[in-house]
Amino acid sequence: MTAHIIDGKGFAETLRNRIADHVAGLKREHGLTPGLAVIIVGHDPASQVYVRNKARQTEEVGMNSFKYELPADTPEAALLSLIDELNNRQDVHGILCQMPVPAHIDPVTVINAVAPAKDVDMFHPVNAGKLMTGQVGPVSCTPLGCLMLLRDYHGELTGKSAVVIGRSNLVGKPMAQLLLKDNCTVTMAHSKTVDLPGVVRQADIVVAAVGRAKMVKGDWIKPGATVLDVGINRIPAPEKGEGKTRLVGDVDFEAAKEVAGAITPVPGGVGPMTIACLLANTVTTCCLINGLTPPGDLTA
Ligand code: NAP
Repeated sequence: MTAHIIDGKGFAETLRNRIADHVAGLKREHGLTPGLAVIIVGHDPASQVYVRNKARQTEEVGMNSFKYELPADTPEAALLSLIDELNNRQDVHGILCQMPVPAHIDPVTVINAVAPAKDVDMFHPVNAGKLMTGQVGPVSCTPLGCLMLLRDYHGELTGKSAVVIGRSNLVGKPMAQLLLKDNCTVTMAHSKTVDLPGVVRQADIVVAAVGRAKMVKGDWIKPGATVLDVGINRIPAPEKGEGKTRLVGDVDFEAAKEVAGAITPVPGGVGPMTIACLLANTVTTCCLINGLTPPGDLTA
């Protein structure tokens, strides 16, 4: 059996079109243009690419994009002062500070400085708590993207056994909460899990968010299971030329696709959903800030 390949890139494009429609509706009916502010401190090349893509896609769906590129030696106080200014601006509905920040800046202080109402990454403990207690709010972008792909493929997730590998605040923990909310029976696995292959073999749904190239082997997968590969790992690709690299996920895709029922590729799976969900979250926060009900098809 060869698995159905879940087209995250195509789904993200459809989602961005839906977001553009909602943005047009907000402008037309309420005179509102959602605005997303992205801050980057320092010159990490990978982060620069992410931030450029975010800004471009924000504008493409008709939202306002505000980009702040700060030098690597920016004092923490100056960054906090910018965040405070953005917290108070009426034309900014989402604030994202690209991680990692330079070592002299405490990431937790930065995360806690963003107003929870504008925290489109769902890093703030208030929003993590809202997700935990089932309240409406923005949901961390990557897990939201995974959930949308799962709902689209399965329709209904109730009763499914799900294993999430990785327990980061960014991906693993919110992913597990979302699956629980959709009535899955959820197991969270991590680096201390005993017999990880055996645990994964029980799962109808596997979400791998580890950061280790091809760690999840084909014979770990239950036949017919759905596999979402969040991992982004760069490995040498001598076949492309000397010093060249390529991206792979946390799952051994070639082997897993022979066993799984459905699987996301890397690249082109979960990755494109993350930015699309960031835009979706900005529409959601714009609505909530202005006392409007967020569109039901953009939230969890
Ligand atoms: P992270 O904060 O480093 O967390 C990694 C998690 O994996 C930890 O919980 C760790 O367990 C667990 N882990 C490490 N080694 C393991 C092992 N041998 N067996 C089982 N679990 C193990 O990473 P993250 O931020 O969640 O990101 C994970 C991956 O997703 C990375 O490749 C990242 O680049 C990627 N990512 C992709 C997107 C996207 O848009 N596609 C978005 C975010 C992240 P412990 O807690 O026990 O240490």
